Amino acid sequence: MADSVSIYDKTFVPFIKKDAIASRVKEIASAINTAYKDKNPLFLGILNGSFIFAADLFRGLSIDAEISFIKLASYKGTSTTGHVVTAIGLEESLKGRHIIIIEDIIDTGKTLSAFLPEIYNRQPASVAIAVFLTKPGALKYDVKADYTAFEIEDKFVVGYGLDYDGYGRNLPDLYQLA
Ligand code: 5GP
Ligand code: MG
Repeated sequence: MADSVSIYDKTFVPFIKKDAIASRVKEIASAINTAYKDKNPLFLGILNGSFIFAADLFRGLSIDAEISFIKLASYKGTSTTGHVVTAIGLEESLKGRHIIIIEDIIDTGKTLSAFLPEIYNRQPASVAIAVFLTKPGALKYDVKADYTAFEIEDKFVVGYGLDYDGYGRNLPDLYQLA
């Protein structure tokens, strides 16, 4: 693991090592293996940030499961619908399915709280959220993850799929702003 990483004007220092990440992701995968046995869950990975976490989590599964990836698009709705976040690339029917949303990080919770109604509208049997990171100190919206790899303090991080302005996603370990 590099001592520090520079991206543009910022310096990031080592935070969570890849081995620690791998063992937490395996623990979450085994909890899902137990909870979702015979439920054939459909994972929905939210791009771009979750692609590495999703790949590792999915390979930890021994149950039957499907995975698909979506992008979120955000726009301002009417005064009654407020902030709307809709899925791009969601072709599967969610009706009656057990859905597990895979997200990189819940910061304020704004994105997921605006997106969840879109999922519930499609009448799934159940919805759970698996998230790599949460920042409890930054949470402002009513969103709760069912599976969380790490709870971290409210500081910007990169690596393991998370970027700073497009870069840093390829770092195998997680780094924190110095
Ligand atoms: P929320 O809607 O929960 O406030 O924000 C979620 C999004 O903000 C994440 O999906 C991610 O794109 C971005 N984000 C929040 N905190 C961080 C962070 O520490 N590092 C990176 N790379 N992205 C973050
Ligand atoms: Mg994201």
